Amino acid sequence: MNVYGSNELARDVQQAGYCIGCGACVELCPYFRNHRGHTARLFACSLEQGRCHAHCPKTEVDLEELSSALYGEKYEGTPLGHYRSILAARATGKVAGPFQGGGTVSALATYALESKLIDAAILTGADGMRPVPQIVTDPDKVARCGSSRFTAAPTLSVMNQAVRQGMRRLGVVGTPCQMTAVAQMKQNPLGIEDFEDPVALTIGLFCNWALEHKQLAAYLANHLDLDSITGMDIPPPPAAVMVVKTHDTEHQFPLEEIRPLIPLSCFICPDMTSEWADVSVGMYEGRPGWNTLIVRSEAGAELVEGAVSNGWIETEAFPGDRLQELAKAALAKKERSFRNANRRGLLQEGENGARPAMKVPQEVLDRLLA
Ligand SMILES: Cc1cc2nc3c(=O)[nH]c(=O)nc-3n(C[C@H](O)[C@H](O)[C@H](O)COP(=O)(O)OP(=O)(O)OC[C@H]3O[C@@H](n4cnc5c(N)ncnc54)[C@H](O)[C@@H]3O)c2cc1C
Ligand code: SF4
Ligand code: SF4
Repeated sequence: MNVYGSNELARDVQQAGYCIGCGACVELCPYFRNHRGHTARLFACSLEQGRCHAHCPKTEVDLEELSSALYGEKYEGTPLGHYRSILAARATGKVAGPFQGGGTVSALATYALESKLIDAAILTGADGMRPVPQIVTDPDKVARCGSSRFTAAPTLSVMNQAVRQGMRRLGVVGTPCQMTAVAQMKQNPLGIEDFEDPVALTIGLFCNWALEHKQLAAYLANHLDLDSITGMDIPPPPAAVMVVKTHDTEHQFPLEEIRPLIPLSCFICPDMTSEWADVSVGMYEGRPGWNTLIVRSEAGAELVEGAVSNGWIETEAFPGDRLQELAKAALAKKERSFRNANRRGLLQEGENGARPAMKVPQEVLDRLLA
């Protein structure tokens, strides 16, 4: 991976409109801050290499390097990435919702804290409809962050804050772009001598796209009282609506009106299922109250085995026809995003050493874009 400084990050990602606001560059130094959902660089800095650039999931992401570092294998561009098993899962009654799906994420994070697999969980709660990152150390408080905020959140800013406070053995829950940032951070890309990986566990979410918070708030404010929002959902096709729940009712908004609020960044994002996380969790289309659970790493396998044997989640086999559907959707996102990124000149190193957003093995790209 080529690492540059904050000037290149500001130019290639922020000014070019590819920043997703994940928070990975925030709280590392005094210069990057999150302001109302936007990452802002307060001052320029003269360092030629910085962790801000090295961890950012939107520049110089080398998929071959990540695959080899995490799983010891080549990046093949398979739809769902490396995995050991795929299961249907849901929380048992040990944690209480509301949850977005089966509550698997909340149950796994609670179990991880309870059993001391992690010392703190990095989660995303909400203040009304605004996503608010949180450092949670009390297992009883994990479920308070349950449910999805469908707007991009600066979750990783509090991961950096926790590390600065000396916390270690963190468990991080986040979207695929956030899992990419964490995976890059874990490789110690700047070769810091006394580097100690602060993250013991990653729980990735599935994600096809997120919305830009300010724009969504402005859109919804025309239709309802923002303070009355209690939850959101995007039901599977053919619904083609976004559901916004308020204290007393449910509103439906056509996806064709919502899609223009998706940031540019999501259109060049090839990962639907958090391929770099220890476990990944998404909805189980057609089976409300359940999740799809992908176990990828040894740490992920231990987490799931422990959570099952201690009664935090229950699992079932994941049916073959659903797996095919999932793989089809994930492949479609990959192909679409590589095509978009390629068209914009964001893949591979450009002429005159132009910096890419992503590096993909050429044979994988040729196959997927054929
Ligand atoms: C922006 C976004 C888009 C998604 N798109 C899809 C999709 O296309 N298909 C699909 O199957 N699933 C998608 N999901 C995942 C899905 O909504 C559920 O999070 C997942 O199925 C886990 O359900 P659960 O009941 O186990 O989660 P819960 O137990 O309810 O826990 C949800 C967790 O999500 C975290 N979280 C909430 N909002 C955010 C946010 N904005 N950013 C980062 N973390 C957050 C919280 O920390 C919480 O711990 C998306 C999630 C998000 C945040
Ligand atoms: S690290 Fe995240 S918040 Fe920072 S510039 Fe990159 S995408 Fe934006
Ligand atoms: S689509 Fe990709 S970039 Fe957009 S929020 Fe989801 S994971 Fe992040």
